[in-house]
Amino acid sequence: MELRRLTDRVFYTMFNKETDRPVLGYISGQKRSLMVDSGNSKNHVECFYEAVSHAGFRKPEIIAITHWHWDHTFGMHAVEGVTIALQKTNDKLAELAKWEWTDSAMKERVADGTEIEFADTCIRTEYPSLSEIRVVTSDIIFDGYMEIDLGGIVAEVHHVASPHSEDSVCIYVPQERVLFIGDAVGVDYYNNCYLDKDKLRSLMTAIEGFDFDICVVGHNEPVSKQKIVQVMNSLLER
Ligand SMILES: [Zn+2]
Repeated sequence: MELRRLTDRVFYTMFNKETDRPVLGYISGQKRSLMVDSGNSKNHVECFYEAVSHAGFRKPEIIAITHWHWDHTFGMHAVEGVTIALQKTNDKLAELAKWEWTDSAMKERVADGTEIEFADTCIRTEYPSLSEIRVVTSDIIFDGYMEIDLGGIVAEVHHVASPHSEDSVCIYVPQERVLFIGDAVGVDYYNNCYLDKDKLRSLMTAIEGFDFDICVVGHNEPVSKQKIVQVMNSLLER
C-alpha cells in the first residue's frame, strides 16, 4: 500500500476489493493531519501507517469518519489519534459494539436480515480470527457541520443527505479543491439496494455546491467533479 498524491497536501491510499477495504485519506496540515476513515481492521490501519511513514509524514492526530459501515469504522480502535463521528454514526456504532462476533452470531444476523451477506463474507476474509473484531464509538461527536483547522489548511466536515446511509459525511478541503464523499453516491445495501432518488437529488445539490476539482470516493479511483455529477445523473435516470 502506498500513499498517493492528489495535491501538495492531500493524499490517499487505494481501496482493495478482496476484503472491501475502502480508500483512506490523508490531509496534511502544519499543526496536525487528518485521516479520512479508519479502515476496516487493525491490519488495514497498520498498512496505512506504513504508507504514511514511508512517504515521510507523521501519523494523523485526527480521524474523521464518513459513515458507520464496518469497512470504514472497524479500524477505529487501532488508530492513535482522536476520532470524530456524526451523532448518528456513533449511535449505530454503539449498537454494533454490543454485537457478538462469533460464527453463529454472525450467521444469525445474516439470517434475520440485520447483516448483509456481502459484509459478512468480507468481514470473514479480513478477519481469519473473528475474535479480533472490536467496534468502538468515537471520541468526539458532532452534528451537522464542523470545521477542523489543521494549521494552514482547513477541513470542513459536512453531514449530507445520501441514498447510501443516513449518516453520510463529506469532508471538503476548499484550499486544495478536494472533496471526500465516502460511499455517499450509492444505493442502500442494508435496504435491498434501494435507491432513494429524493436523497440522491439532495446529495447532488450538496455536491454541486462544493467548489472542487477532485472527488475521492470510497471504493474507486478519485474522479473529477464532472464525472461524479455524471454518475449521479445516470443513477437518477435508472
Ligand atoms: Zn458504505
